[in-house]
Amino acid sequence: MTESLDVLTSLVAGGGVVVLSGAGLSTESGIPDYRGPSGVARRHTPMTFQAFTRDPLARRRYWARSHLGWRLIAGAAPNAGHRAVAGLQRAGLVDAVITQNVDGLHGAAGSTSVIELHGRLDEVTCLDCGNLTSREELDRRLREANPDFVAQVAAVNPDGDVDLPDEQVAAFRPVDCGICGTGMLKPDVVFFGETVPPQRVARCFALVEQARSLVVLGSSLTVMSGRRFVIRAAKRGIPVAIVNQGPTRGDGYATVCVDAPLGALLPELAVRVAGKAATAVAPVGV
Ligand SMILES: [Zn+2]
Repeated sequence: MTESLDVLTSLVAGGGVVVLSGAGLSTESGIPDYRGPSGVARRHTPMTFQAFTRDPLARRRYWARSHLGWRLIAGAAPNAGHRAVAGLQRAGLVDAVITQNVDGLHGAAGSTSVIELHGRLDEVTCLDCGNLTSREELDRRLREANPDFVAQVAAVNPDGDVDLPDEQVAAFRPVDCGICGTGMLKPDVVFFGETVPPQRVARCFALVEQARSLVVLGSSLTVMSGRRFVIRAAKRGIPVAIVNQGPTRGDGYATVCVDAPLGALLPELAVRVAGKAATAVAPVGV
Protein backbone atom coordinates (compact mmCIF):
# COMPACT_ATOMS: atom_id res chain seq x y z
CA MET A 1 0.00 0.00 0.00
CA THR A 2 2.78 2.46 0.96
CA GLU A 3 4.71 1.51 -2.14
CA SER A 4 1.69 1.97 -4.42
CA LEU A 5 0.91 5.29 -2.73
CA ASP A 6 4.49 6.40 -3.49
CA VAL A 7 4.00 5.59 -7.18
CA LEU A 8 0.67 7.45 -7.20
CA THR A 9 2.26 10.45 -5.44
CA SER A 10 5.05 10.61 -8.03
CA LEU A 11 2.59 10.46 -10.92
CA VAL A 12 0.40 13.24 -9.52
CA ALA A 13 3.39 15.39 -8.49
CA GLY A 14 4.56 15.15 -12.12
CA GLY A 15 1.49 17.20 -13.16
CA GLY A 16 -0.48 16.96 -16.40
CA VAL A 17 -3.00 14.70 -14.69
CA VAL A 18 -6.41 13.94 -16.15
CA VAL A 19 -8.82 12.55 -13.54
CA LEU A 20 -11.56 10.07 -14.44
CA SER A 21 -14.00 9.83 -11.55
CA GLY A 22 -16.93 7.56 -10.79
CA ALA A 23 -19.61 6.84 -8.21
CA GLY A 24 -17.11 5.74 -5.55
CA LEU A 25 -15.99 9.35 -5.17
CA SER A 26 -19.50 10.49 -4.20
CA THR A 27 -20.50 7.69 -1.79
CA GLU A 28 -19.00 9.66 1.09
CA SER A 29 -21.35 12.50 0.14
CA GLY A 30 -24.26 10.13 0.78
CA ILE A 31 -24.95 9.26 -2.84
CA PRO A 32 -25.26 5.49 -3.25
CA ASP A 33 -22.88 3.64 -5.56
CA TYR A 34 -24.83 0.88 -7.20
CA ARG A 35 -21.78 -0.97 -8.44
CA GLY A 36 -19.31 -0.45 -5.61
CA PRO A 37 -18.97 -2.36 -2.36
CA SER A 38 -22.04 -0.72 -0.82
CA GLY A 39 -24.21 -1.31 -3.85
CA VAL A 40 -24.18 -5.09 -4.11
CA ALA A 41 -27.85 -5.33 -3.21
CA ARG A 42 -29.02 -3.14 -6.04
CA ARG A 43 -32.80 -3.08 -5.86
CA HIS A 44 -33.77 -1.68 -9.19
CA THR A 45 -32.59 -2.56 -12.65
CA PRO A 46 -31.35 0.63 -14.30
CA MET A 47 -33.81 2.58 -16.40
CA THR A 48 -33.09 2.15 -20.10
CA PHE A 49 -33.72 4.87 -22.64
CA GLN A 50 -36.01 2.48 -24.53
CA ALA A 51 -38.22 1.74 -21.49
CA PHE A 52 -38.28 5.42 -20.51
CA THR A 53 -39.44 6.63 -23.92
CA ARG A 54 -41.79 3.77 -24.84
CA ASP A 55 -43.44 2.74 -21.58
CA PRO A 56 -45.58 5.39 -19.85
CA LEU A 57 -45.72 3.33 -16.63
CA ALA A 58 -41.93 2.96 -16.51
CA ARG A 59 -41.63 6.74 -17.05
CA ARG A 60 -44.14 7.49 -14.30
CA ARG A 61 -42.25 5.15 -11.95
CA TYR A 62 -38.96 6.82 -12.84
CA TRP A 63 -40.22 10.34 -12.15
CA ALA A 64 -41.95 9.31 -8.92
CA ARG A 65 -38.71 7.78 -7.55
CA SER A 66 -36.62 10.56 -8.98
CA HIS A 67 -38.83 13.24 -7.42
CA LEU A 68 -37.88 11.74 -4.04
CA GLY A 69 -34.28 10.86 -4.91
CA TRP A 70 -33.62 14.39 -6.16
CA ARG A 71 -33.85 15.65 -2.58
CA LEU A 72 -30.84 13.46 -1.74
CA ILE A 73 -28.79 14.77 -4.69
CA ALA A 74 -29.83 18.40 -4.21
CA GLY A 75 -28.89 18.20 -0.53
CA ALA A 76 -25.51 16.49 -1.09
CA ALA A 77 -22.28 18.41 -0.50
CA PRO A 78 -18.81 17.70 -1.90
CA ASN A 79 -16.61 15.56 0.39
CA ALA A 80 -12.90 15.65 1.23
CA GLY A 81 -12.14 13.66 -1.95
CA HIS A 82 -13.79 16.23 -4.26
CA ARG A 83 -12.06 19.05 -2.38
CA ALA A 84 -8.66 17.34 -2.69
CA VAL A 85 -9.13 17.04 -6.47
CA ALA A 86 -10.01 20.74 -6.68
CA GLY A 87 -6.92 21.54 -4.56
CA LEU A 88 -4.64 19.55 -6.85
CA GLN A 89 -6.18 21.40 -9.76
CA ARG A 90 -5.50 24.80 -8.13
CA ALA A 91 -1.91 23.63 -7.56
CA GLY A 92 -1.66 23.22 -11.34
CA LEU A 93 -1.24 19.44 -11.27
CA VAL A 94 -4.64 18.33 -12.58
CA ASP A 95 -5.52 19.62 -16.05
CA ALA A 96 -9.07 18.31 -16.35
CA VAL A 97 -11.66 16.10 -14.71
CA ILE A 98 -13.78 13.65 -16.65
CA THR A 99 -16.58 12.38 -14.43
CA GLN A 100 -19.14 9.64 -14.84
CA ASN A 101 -21.10 11.19 -11.97
CA VAL A 102 -24.20 13.27 -12.62
CA ASP A 103 -24.28 14.97 -9.21
CA GLY A 104 -22.34 18.16 -10.04
CA LEU A 105 -20.15 17.78 -6.92
CA HIS A 106 -16.79 18.38 -8.67
CA GLY A 107 -17.99 21.83 -9.71
CA ALA A 108 -19.45 22.45 -6.25
CA ALA A 109 -16.01 21.67 -4.76
CA GLY A 110 -14.40 24.28 -7.02
CA SER A 111 -13.03 22.14 -9.85
CA THR A 112 -12.92 23.66 -13.31
CA SER A 113 -12.54 22.01 -16.74
CA VAL A 114 -14.97 19.29 -15.70
CA ILE A 115 -16.48 17.14 -18.44
CA GLU A 116 -19.64 15.45 -17.25
CA LEU A 117 -19.54 12.36 -19.42
CA HIS A 118 -23.02 11.16 -18.50
CA GLY A 119 -24.66 14.57 -18.16
CA ARG A 120 -26.12 16.33 -15.12
CA LEU A 121 -29.11 15.46 -13.03
CA ASP A 122 -29.82 19.11 -12.27
CA GLU A 123 -30.78 19.80 -15.87
CA VAL A 124 -33.81 18.55 -17.74
CA THR A 125 -34.19 18.26 -21.48
CA CYS A 126 -37.32 18.12 -23.65
CA LEU A 127 -37.14 15.26 -26.13
CA ASP A 128 -39.40 17.19 -28.55
CA CYS A 129 -38.29 20.85 -28.57
CA GLY A 130 -34.80 20.22 -27.16
CA ASN A 131 -35.02 23.01 -24.60
CA LEU A 132 -32.93 22.62 -21.48
CA THR A 133 -34.46 23.73 -18.17
CA SER A 134 -33.36 23.47 -14.57
CA ARG A 135 -34.28 20.60 -12.31
CA GLU A 136 -35.17 23.15 -9.68
CA GLU A 137 -37.89 24.51 -11.96
CA LEU A 138 -39.15 20.99 -12.72
CA ASP A 139 -39.11 20.20 -9.00
CA ARG A 140 -41.34 23.20 -8.39
CA ARG A 141 -43.79 22.06 -11.10
CA LEU A 142 -43.79 18.45 -9.85
CA ARG A 143 -44.54 19.66 -6.32
CA GLU A 144 -47.45 21.68 -7.64
CA ALA A 145 -48.81 18.67 -9.53
CA ASN A 146 -48.23 16.34 -6.55
CA PRO A 147 -48.74 18.48 -3.45
CA ASP A 148 -48.81 15.71 -0.83
CA PHE A 149 -46.57 13.13 -2.48
CA VAL A 150 -43.25 13.70 -0.73
CA ALA A 151 -44.79 13.89 2.75
CA GLN A 152 -46.86 10.73 2.20
CA VAL A 153 -43.99 8.66 0.85
CA ALA A 154 -41.56 9.94 3.47
CA ALA A 155 -44.01 8.63 6.06
CA VAL A 156 -43.94 5.20 4.40
CA ASN A 157 -40.16 5.11 4.04
CA PRO A 158 -38.59 6.71 7.10
CA ASP A 159 -35.16 5.37 6.09
CA GLY A 160 -35.18 7.51 2.96
CA ASP A 161 -35.43 4.51 0.66
CA VAL A 162 -37.23 5.29 -2.55
CA ASP A 163 -38.69 1.87 -3.18
CA LEU A 164 -42.24 2.81 -4.05
CA PRO A 165 -45.41 0.73 -3.75
CA ASP A 166 -47.39 0.49 -7.02
CA GLU A 167 -50.37 2.48 -5.73
CA GLN A 168 -48.13 5.44 -4.94
CA VAL A 169 -46.53 5.28 -8.36
CA ALA A 170 -50.02 5.19 -9.90
CA ALA A 171 -50.97 8.33 -7.95
CA PHE A 172 -47.93 10.28 -9.14
CA ARG A 173 -48.50 12.83 -11.91
CA PRO A 174 -45.45 13.55 -14.09
CA VAL A 175 -45.46 16.80 -16.09
CA ASP A 176 -44.63 17.59 -19.72
CA CYS A 177 -42.35 20.30 -21.10
CA GLY A 178 -43.28 23.75 -19.79
CA ILE A 179 -41.98 25.43 -22.97
CA CYS A 180 -43.55 23.54 -25.90
CA GLY A 181 -46.34 22.27 -23.65
CA THR A 182 -46.43 18.63 -24.78
CA GLY A 183 -42.87 17.33 -25.09
CA MET A 184 -41.57 14.42 -23.03
CA LEU A 185 -39.11 15.52 -20.34
CA LYS A 186 -35.99 13.56 -19.48
CA PRO A 187 -33.20 14.37 -17.05
CA ASP A 188 -30.17 15.47 -19.08
CA VAL A 189 -28.26 12.32 -18.21
CA VAL A 190 -27.20 9.41 -20.39
CA PHE A 191 -29.42 6.42 -19.65
CA PHE A 192 -28.46 2.81 -20.21
CA GLY A 193 -29.08 2.00 -23.87
CA GLU A 194 -28.17 5.56 -24.87
CA THR A 195 -24.81 6.70 -26.19
CA VAL A 196 -22.72 9.59 -24.90
CA PRO A 197 -22.72 12.44 -27.47
CA PRO A 198 -19.75 11.77 -29.85
CA GLN A 199 -18.30 15.31 -29.52
CA ARG A 200 -18.13 14.87 -25.75
CA VAL A 201 -16.33 11.52 -26.13
CA ALA A 202 -13.91 13.04 -28.64
CA ARG A 203 -13.06 15.87 -26.20
CA CYS A 204 -12.32 13.30 -23.51
CA PHE A 205 -10.10 11.23 -25.80
CA ALA A 206 -8.18 14.39 -26.74
CA LEU A 207 -7.65 15.25 -23.06
CA VAL A 208 -6.50 11.72 -22.25
CA GLU A 209 -4.06 11.66 -25.15
CA GLN A 210 -2.46 14.92 -23.99
CA ALA A 211 -2.25 13.81 -20.36
CA ARG A 212 0.96 12.91 -18.57
CA SER A 213 -1.06 10.44 -16.51
CA LEU A 214 -4.66 9.29 -16.12
CA VAL A 215 -5.87 8.89 -12.53
CA VAL A 216 -9.10 6.94 -12.02
CA LEU A 217 -10.95 7.76 -8.79
CA GLY A 218 -13.79 5.59 -7.51
CA SER A 219 -14.87 3.75 -10.60
CA SER A 220 -15.04 0.00 -11.06
CA LEU A 221 -14.78 0.71 -14.83
CA THR A 222 -17.57 -1.78 -15.43
CA VAL A 223 -18.96 0.01 -18.47
CA MET A 224 -17.00 0.73 -21.61
CA SER A 225 -18.13 4.36 -21.41
CA GLY A 226 -15.32 5.03 -18.89
CA ARG A 227 -13.05 2.02 -19.47
CA ARG A 228 -12.26 3.05 -23.05
CA PHE A 229 -10.25 6.04 -21.77
CA VAL A 230 -8.12 3.76 -19.62
CA ILE A 231 -7.51 1.45 -22.58
CA ARG A 232 -6.61 4.42 -24.80
CA ALA A 233 -4.14 5.80 -22.25
CA ALA A 234 -2.50 2.41 -21.78
CA LYS A 235 -2.19 1.96 -25.56
CA ARG A 236 -0.45 5.34 -25.81
CA GLY A 237 1.96 4.46 -23.02
CA ILE A 238 0.39 7.02 -20.64
CA PRO A 239 0.57 5.74 -17.05
CA VAL A 240 -2.78 4.88 -15.47
CA ALA A 241 -3.35 4.96 -11.70
CA ILE A 242 -6.54 3.55 -10.20
CA VAL A 243 -7.80 4.42 -6.73
CA ASN A 244 -10.90 2.43 -5.86
CA GLN A 245 -12.38 0.26 -3.15
CA GLY A 246 -12.20 -3.22 -4.64
CA PRO A 247 -10.90 -4.51 -7.97
CA THR A 248 -11.84 -2.82 -11.25
CA ARG A 249 -12.07 -3.95 -14.84
CA GLY A 250 -9.21 -1.60 -15.67
CA ASP A 251 -6.66 -3.06 -13.23
CA GLY A 252 -4.87 -4.94 -16.02
CA TYR A 253 -4.08 -1.63 -17.75
CA ALA A 254 -2.90 0.19 -14.64
CA THR A 255 0.62 1.12 -13.59
CA VAL A 256 -0.59 1.28 -10.01
CA CYS A 257 -3.77 0.38 -8.13
CA VAL A 258 -4.59 1.69 -4.65
CA ASP A 259 -7.50 0.09 -2.77
CA ALA A 260 -8.72 2.70 -0.28
CA PRO A 261 -11.66 4.94 0.66
CA LEU A 262 -11.24 8.13 -1.36
CA GLY A 263 -12.33 10.64 1.28
CA ALA A 264 -9.36 9.59 3.43
CA LEU A 265 -6.80 8.81 0.76
CA LEU A 266 -7.09 11.89 -1.47
CA PRO A 267 -6.36 14.48 1.24
CA GLU A 268 -3.35 12.34 2.27
CA LEU A 269 -2.22 12.22 -1.35
CA ALA A 270 -2.52 16.03 -1.58
CA VAL A 271 -0.29 16.41 1.50
CA ARG A 272 2.28 13.95 0.13
CA VAL A 273 2.30 15.69 -3.24
CA ALA A 274 2.80 19.09 -1.58
CA GLY A 275 5.64 17.60 0.52
CA LYS A 276 7.27 16.18 -2.57
CA ALA A 277 7.09 19.55 -4.31
CA ALA A 278 8.66 21.22 -1.23
CA THR A 279 11.43 18.62 -1.15
CA ALA A 280 12.11 19.17 -4.83
CA VAL A 281 12.79 22.90 -4.40
CA ALA A 282 14.59 22.67 -1.02
CA PRO A 283 18.38 22.94 -1.22
CA VAL A 284 20.26 19.74 -0.47
CA GLY A 285 20.89 19.22 3.23
CA VAL A 286 18.13 21.53 4.44
ZN1 LIG B 1 -40.53 21.00 -25.16
